Amino acid sequence: MKTFADIGLSEDLLRAVADKGYTTPSPIQEQAIPNVLARKDLIAAAQTGTGKTAGFTLPMMQILHDSSQSRPSRGRPIRALVLTPTRELAAQVEQSIIDYGKYLQLRSMVVYGGVKIGPQIRKLKDGIDILVATPGRLLDLCQQGACKLDQVNMLVLDEADRMLDMGFINDIRKVIKLLPKKRQNLLFSATFSKEIKQMTRELLVNPITVEVSPENTTAETVAQHAYRCDNTKKSDICLKLIQEGGWKQVLIFTRTKHGANRLSQKLDKAGINSSAIHGNKGQGARTKALEGFKQGKVRVLVATDIAARGLDIAQLPHVINFELPNVAEDYVHRIGRTGRAGKEGEAISLVCNDERPFLTGIEKLIKQRIPLTDIEGFAPELWPKRAPTASEVMKAANARKQQARQAQGPRKQGGGRRHSAQGGNSGEKKSSAPASRNRRSRRRSR
Ligand code: AMP
Repeated sequence: MKTFADIGLSEDLLRAVADKGYTTPSPIQEQAIPNVLARKDLIAAAQTGTGKTAGFTLPMMQILHDSSQSRPSRGRPIRALVLTPTRELAAQVEQSIIDYGKYLQLRSMVVYGGVKIGPQIRKLKDGIDILVATPGRLLDLCQQGACKLDQVNMLVLDEADRMLDMGFINDIRKVIKLLPKKRQNLLFSATFSKEIKQMTRELLVNPITVEVSPENTTAETVAQHAYRCDNTKKSDICLKLIQEGGWKQVLIFTRTKHGANRLSQKLDKAGINSSAIHGNKGQGARTKALEGFKQGKVRVLVATDIAARGLDIAQLPHVINFELPNVAEDYVHRIGRTGRAGKEGEAISLVCNDERPFLTGIEKLIKQRIPLTDIEGFAPELWPKRAPTASEVMKAANARKQQARQAQGPRKQGGGRRHSAQGGNSGEKKSSAPASRNRRSRRRSR
């Protein structure tokens, strides 16, 4: 087995890595680090939990350090740019840079939207070596002349599939136009759709491909299980699982913001301390909830996909899919929160009759059967022999929507309730819309 020294890291980084308690490089690190140090373009197929962040931040810092010895710190140009889909992921990448760079003199900074731009503009003036950013805020800063990218010689696209899903493709293209043509490009993605493959062709030059778990598969350390149930019983099932299992740290995914709030309130009432995070919560509230969860003060974090993207919570033991995602790749991302870096984890999905087509889609994607059983006392009343097709589910959802509208009478602007295929309310995701439409709605709802 190789050590961090074997794969070419310098003394200062070796010390920082040892301080973090890492003994050996993870497989993605073992493959990525020497290639990045050799200044190669890289495509890395890796989901969160594999150690991918250190896979690019460590060699990046070594390269920058080696070439910055003689530079004054003030007025340094930005030489490395990391783009991430969400604020949370951006903050986590920046934290890794701070941790791993503790014995180096590099300057880094994170910028994202939802907070005041003024302090970011002021800090940028001091000179930054590494900038971690979400695309929208970065473009704002560039347009205001606060940020120059013409000296960037390393670009990292982290969770590139998420960025495309969230509709950032045009922003990314605009950012790339601001970069020098000659640079090193690293692209990390958990899944490889046609669009991602197209992007790699456009962006990367003779890239090396590294892969730790085959495309669209789930971590082996995650035990996956699904329970058949009625939609109306799902929150009681969550209560039972958490209480009887004595679970201390649980991440629950809901499709909608309202669903997340409702479930969180129900858990709180039952004496289980929980917080909800979603696109309607301000950055402060999201950070606070996440911190509370990491420190063990909040036992259950209820999140929508967008809010939970890229969360790095060490050793998260339990994930519950309160509703299955209708975009199968999201399942891979969701359960990627658990069983991280070799730790064991458990992912449970609550599946009502209408969600059966989604379960089939997920199993097809991950090329694996997920055991489906009943929980004692919660066997579903409705579970016909034949599973509904996706189009039947969509039709039924539309009919319910229509009925609800008629029952409500004329709709007030923006005030109506939307019903999903699972009977949920309006939210970050539409239940059965095609993926392209979902992408647009996700972006809007951030
Ligand atoms: P990531 O996939 O980058 O989100 O990393 C997942 C988790 O693994 C983080 O909590 C890291 O601190 C941890 N980690 C990264 N590299 C290693 C390593 N070589 N050994 C042990 N843990 C690691």
